[in-house]
Amino acid sequence: MPGTLDGQVAVVTGASRGIGRACAVALAREGANVVVNYTSNEDAAKETQKALEALGVKTLVFKADVGKADQAKALIEAAEKAFGKVDILVNNAGINKDRTIQRMSADDWDAVVQTDLSSIFYTTSAAVGGMRERSYGRIVNMSSIIGQMGNIGQANYAAAKAGMIAFTKSAARELARFNITVNAVCPGFVETDMVSALSDDIKKTLIGNIPLGRFGTAEEVADTVLFLCKPSGAWYTGAQMNLNGGQYM
Ligand code: NAP
Repeated sequence: MPGTLDGQVAVVTGASRGIGRACAVALAREGANVVVNYTSNEDAAKETQKALEALGVKTLVFKADVGKADQAKALIEAAEKAFGKVDILVNNAGINKDRTIQRMSADDWDAVVQTDLSSIFYTTSAAVGGMRERSYGRIVNMSSIIGQMGNIGQANYAAAKAGMIAFTKSAARELARFNITVNAVCPGFVETDMVSALSDDIKKTLIGNIPLGRFGTAEEVADTVLFLCKPSGAWYTGAQMNLNGGQYM
């Protein structure tokens, strides 16, 4: 059966694991060829690639630290060289380095802001030229509920994720005339490596604050990303898509 994204090319940053992998699989299921970006975990990236190839799409695995401008640009250039274009850019790569403000080092601050926020400027600025030429683009930025509510010990992460929302709104206004949409997805707590690293006590407290009484899944987040990339999402731009089990701060 033809997919709604047949022939399209998607770049997913941080697609070796977690939400990024689920996004790559969801896009491939609809027929998109996918560039799988990772920064250190090559085995996991290759596992993602295997899952995508089983769905019959073409893939490219590309190692790049998207928090570095030259590597982010190289990622987009490699995608364009391999597939001739980039239609969909999912800016998903992210890290956290949680400390209270007093204990947070400048390196902890810089690493999170570079990886989670500066990266989306680097990849987007590299990708929009081709998108403008073809008058088509779908950009989805993986923000977080933490960027909306703030959190103890996460000032760096919250600031970066809030910055992603502001970047999204600006880019949406700037690029709408070229039929390029830019949206942010703001998940609550999702069961991935990022959350499973927390202690059982913290997890229990977190779940206690979620009205639906459970963490989200990477696949649920990927469904929202997919919605924004399919024709169904064509009139969404500058949006913050909240999926958080009812945890509205
Ligand atoms: P995860 O399981 O820790 O996976 C992180 C992914 O990002 C991995 O593929 C990792 O690659 C990649 N990555 C990290 N730094 C990178 C860099 N500098 N350049 C390129 N890739 C990099 O995280 P996740 O939970 O799936 O989170 C994905 C995104 O969703 C993040 O932006 C996160 O902030 C956001 N989010 C997560 C949650 C949650 O509860 N899990 C909630 C809201 C928002 P390697 O495998 O090579 O390390």
